[in-house]
Amino acid sequence: MYIIFSGAFYLILAIMILMNKGLEKFYNLVEAFEMLPTIGKKSAIRLAYYIVTENTFIGMKLAHSIETAIRDIRQCTQCYAMSENEICEICLDDERDDETLCIVQSAKDIFIIEESKQFSGKYFVIESLEEHIIQDLVKRVEKSKVDHILFAVTPSIANDAFILYIEDRLKNKNITFTKIAQGVPTGVSLENVDILSLSKAITGQIKI
Ligand SMILES: [Zn+2]
Repeated sequence: MYIIFSGAFYLILAIMILMNKGLEKFYNLVEAFEMLPTIGKKSAIRLAYYIVTENTFIGMKLAHSIETAIRDIRQCTQCYAMSENEICEICLDDERDDETLCIVQSAKDIFIIEESKQFSGKYFVIESLEEHIIQDLVKRVEKSKVDHILFAVTPSIANDAFILYIEDRLKNKNITFTKIAQGVPTGVSLENVDILSLSKAITGQIKI
């Protein structure tokens, strides 16, 4: 019953917004929320309504957090992960295995793999096969004496080509290449894979 009521409520509010020119600032906020991934019109209205009327403190905190995060977060110069400093905490962590490198295609995949607690090496983010990134990878492999590379990428033909290309660039360096496999469906991004499946995928690596 509550769901029906709230659905109707937000629909009415949406119509009011469209009709009332005096709510342009509110409507701009709704539009901004709607631009975010996974947020639809109804959720955008709900969020905007919540922070401007029900909890302005959260609204201000959100605005401040967004501003400082965008200003202060950059790429780690060693692995291209997100970092507040020149070198990220994982790269600086002496407890982690320097000789095992996990290659991911998005910095956000690192959070998901860390959540699984199945990997204790270091990371390297390759969003695209740009030459300067590959050269940084080669330097990293040589400097840290990397002997094992795990590809944490979802299975697809494009990703097989991605793996082959990197393997080829690192040939003759005595590296064992593995990739995650079990439980990770074809063509699905890592953020949509549940932690248990991902944990199994990491522990059950396949040798390439
Ligand atoms: Zn790093």
